[in-house]
Amino acid sequence: MSLTLDEIQNFKGKYPKQIWSLFFSEMWERFCFYGMRGMLVFFMISQLNFHEKEANLQYGATQAFVYAFTFVGGLFADKILGFRKSLFWGGLLMIVGSLILATDPHKFFFLGIAFTVVGTGFFKPNISSMVGQLYKPNDSRADAGFSLFYAGINLGALLGGYLCIAIGKGELFASIIPEELRWHLAFGFAAVVMVVSLINFVFTQRSLGSIGLQPGHPDNEVKSAPIPKWQEYGVYVLSLIFVPIIMIMVAKTEYTDYFMWTIGPLTLIYLFYEMTKVTPSERKKLWAALVFILFSILFWGIYEQSGGSLSIFAAKNLNKDLLGLDPNGVNNSGGAFFIIFLAPLIGLLWIWLNKRKIEPNTIIKFGLGFIFLGLGYYVLFATRFFANLQGITSLNFFTIALLVITLGELCLSPIGLSIMTKLSTKNLQGMMMGMWFLASAYGQYVAGIIGAGLATAKEGSTNYDALITYTDGYKQLGLYAVIAGVVLILISPVVKKLMQDVK
Ligand code: GLN
Repeated sequence: MSLTLDEIQNFKGKYPKQIWSLFFSEMWERFCFYGMRGMLVFFMISQLNFHEKEANLQYGATQAFVYAFTFVGGLFADKILGFRKSLFWGGLLMIVGSLILATDPHKFFFLGIAFTVVGTGFFKPNISSMVGQLYKPNDSRADAGFSLFYAGINLGALLGGYLCIAIGKGELFASIIPEELRWHLAFGFAAVVMVVSLINFVFTQRSLGSIGLQPGHPDNEVKSAPIPKWQEYGVYVLSLIFVPIIMIMVAKTEYTDYFMWTIGPLTLIYLFYEMTKVTPSERKKLWAALVFILFSILFWGIYEQSGGSLSIFAAKNLNKDLLGLDPNGVNNSGGAFFIIFLAPLIGLLWIWLNKRKIEPNTIIKFGLGFIFLGLGYYVLFATRFFANLQGITSLNFFTIALLVITLGELCLSPIGLSIMTKLSTKNLQGMMMGMWFLASAYGQYVAGIIGAGLATAKEGSTNYDALITYTDGYKQLGLYAVIAGVVLILISPVVKKLMQDVK
């Protein structure tokens, strides 16, 4: 073993050097994921002849399953595979999923998606957990590291989200790709970048010391008996068995409701069971983690309007006064664009504040996250004051809202990843990270319900009235977010007690 854990964690400067390798693997994975996600609804409507509503429901189901599966991926990583093998297995499944879609996207659509769902579950939470292990438990530079990593996530999201669909629709490379091959190549592209992600990880492993090794590996920091091979193969087989099940459940969206109502309570029961096995001090930290997880459901429920009601709002109620850009394009990629620039800066701001001993702790950062989110929604509300009688308003102003919402995201999302790694015991890291993402699954689910409510309220009205209905809704959501932020700040002394030495 070339590097010991101590050598890795005692790095000089602002970032551990391994973070760059993890940054790139995650960037390519998110490219593959957002590339595919960006094509889903359009492909279902234009190629599979789904109705708009059906396509949206199916999209929501896919998102819910993707993030719900991170719990399973995290759990198996803790117990059997370790982070590295999980990541590899997940990456392979994602490649298979994308290749299936590339072969015949029309015929094997749901099969390909199901592979990607299970694969993401094994990949996504575990790479974030490895970032956490680059730091000692109380290293104040961790939030900055996660902010940088978050920039990588969004760089991948931006590139993949833009390029894949552009190839599929024939807006890019149309002269060299024959029409009947466009969608095949677009999905195939996602497979190629995922291969790049895994190759990059093969090299990364060499500098990771003992981080992410399988439980029971002789070089692992926590000593335990080796995992029998049949258990490892059992996980692989089990995840393959999940594929057809997911396929059926995604295809029939009524199952999503049952699934969502079952998985949350089950994971909570399991967490409570695990809590009986830890020390009282560790238990308190897990309670604190649960507070963050529960609040994040509300955050994502409001935030994720971007894929639903805000995309309809962008299509119907916005002009092109921002450099002539397409409002939906801005809605889809504006957030990621801001994050790429702001995330590293905000990370450095945390380090700078820490040196002056005035860095806000995690609960206050979360509170700020909600307050920015709320203010962003108030800005969305205020777009109505710039509207003409046809209900068309300013894209410029809308973009300011995106910027404010993004500031909120940066106070919550990377910080949430970071705090999960700090509050979890060593053997529950993957599972807790999975729970963090499971909250996103619920957020997506809640977002869908809120969006559907707004859509029903505006049914049959004029474009101007629709603007009023939507912006009224956004004001309401803004208020909820600000209230949640204030509540978080008010309960911060209690949560701080639960967190003990963790900041
Ligand atoms: N956009 C971030 C990512 O893809 C956060 C997702 C989430 O937690 N909902 O990683």
